[in-house]
Amino acid sequence: MPTACWWAYPMNGPAALHGPARPEWTCVACGDPWPCRTRKRQLKDLCRCDVRLLRNYLTPYLRDARVELVDVDLAEITERFLGWCDRPLDRPSAGDPPGGDGGGAAPEGEAGGRPALPG
Ligand SMILES: [Zn+2]
Repeated sequence: MPTACWWAYPMNGPAALHGPARPEWTCVACGDPWPCRTRKRQLKDLCRCDVRLLRNYLTPYLRDARVELVDVDLAEITERFLGWCDRPLDRPSAGDPPGGDGGGAAPEGEAGGRPALPG
């Protein structure tokens, strides 16, 4: 059996893939500085919060970004790519943006939808 995981396949087409747009290094999906919040969460899931694994994964990206982001301070780039790896991601308590994990909406009762009575 192949070790395919959910993260390897975008669920909603290319837009769901939060990859870097280079050489700007912004997220192609949400436009935030890459890695964006969604990508970080995906990577944390992918690496099961293993900091070493995360850093190994991100180091090649960091190497490229340090070359391409000439206007950004190296320490800043390093912090942006690796600084979050050993920190817990702050998760939104409420009002999670739509189009995410597919949480079901709670039914609110059937106002006005009376069933037709026989007779
Ligand atoms: Zn994104």
